[in-house]
Amino acid sequence: MEDIANKTFKVVIVGSGPAGLTAALYAARADLKPLVLEGPEPGGQLTTTTDVENFPGYPEGVMGPKMMDDFRQQATRFGADARYGTVTNIEFGERPFKISIDEETDIFAESIIVSTGASAKWLGIPSEQRLRGRGVTACATCDGAFFRNEHVVVIGGGDTAMEEATFLTRYASKVTIIHRRDEFRASKTMQKRAMNNPKIKVMWDSVIDEVLGEQVVKGVNVRNVKTNEITTMEDVTGVFLAIGHKPNTDLFKGVLDMDETGYILTEGKSTKTNVEGIFACGDAQDSVYRQAVTAAGTGCMAAMDAERWLENQEEAAEAEA
Ligand code: NDP
Repeated sequence: MEDIANKTFKVVIVGSGPAGLTAALYAARADLKPLVLEGPEPGGQLTTTTDVENFPGYPEGVMGPKMMDDFRQQATRFGADARYGTVTNIEFGERPFKISIDEETDIFAESIIVSTGASAKWLGIPSEQRLRGRGVTACATCDGAFFRNEHVVVIGGGDTAMEEATFLTRYASKVTIIHRRDEFRASKTMQKRAMNNPKIKVMWDSVIDEVLGEQVVKGVNVRNVKTNEITTMEDVTGVFLAIGHKPNTDLFKGVLDMDETGYILTEGKSTKTNVEGIFACGDAQDSVYRQAVTAAGTGCMAAMDAERWLENQEEAAEAEA
């Protein structure tokens, strides 16, 4: 990083999932020579999945990490500079913004594109982490089709759990929702839709104690929190976490306007935030769609918004001179 210390970039992109790398591609092609700071999970959430079958342009599907390598290569081919490094601080007070990388290197940015994404919440039990991507997943849209005629479980009691359970019945022969309380927090409509589906059953007051299997999921141990009784479900091959997502936006708290869960708010049909020169795209500002293709779309928008904003700044500076 020393070679870029104290350098000023026109565009610095924070985060390297589909949103960030698409923003990088567009900004690079606009000759803005963007710097991408890849963050703690280079390539983003897709690097934790296996096959991606719903990204247009890959008729045979593609492995998540491979797809993100393709994104990176395409952006760097046009001059984006993608670096492993995590932004640890930003001084928002004046432009260009001062950005600290890994608490070591300071650089400056005339504009910033925030594409820090979101992270699915996990239970945090060791067996879940061991089998992540091998039957334990947090994305029914991505992985549901791999569980044709299988019995899968969905953990959670919110709208996501209802939506994912309902979606999974297209493939799975049986879907069991495991919820830690005796009532759902999901909206009545979504609950009704799930409960009316004959393939969906619910285990109330229940939590997963352990996911079974070494290489792939081969069952779950479910504990009733009221009786402490453990039920082993040996036919379960898929565990879908739907206990919420957390946008990775802590760095921007108190500066960028956010909703109550931390998703960055953008202005109208744009990626503009409430701070001039800062744009947000991808899952950091999208709690609804959260797909690679929608993230990529908003990444493109952010680069175009930043480009126009920089142009206007230059024009204004020229007019003043
Ligand atoms: P929510 O926070 O609404 O729900 C999370 C669920 O997971 C809750 O039922 C919660 O239990 C449970 N949970 C949380 N942590 C744990 C844990 N450690 N162990 C077991 N269970 C846990 O998240 P969602 O992703 O469902 O929804 C997020 C937002 O997105 C909501 O505003 C929702 O309305 C919206 N949304 C809307 C959709 C739509 O309208 N089509 C579709 C999907 C989401 P408990 O209830 O006990 O707290």
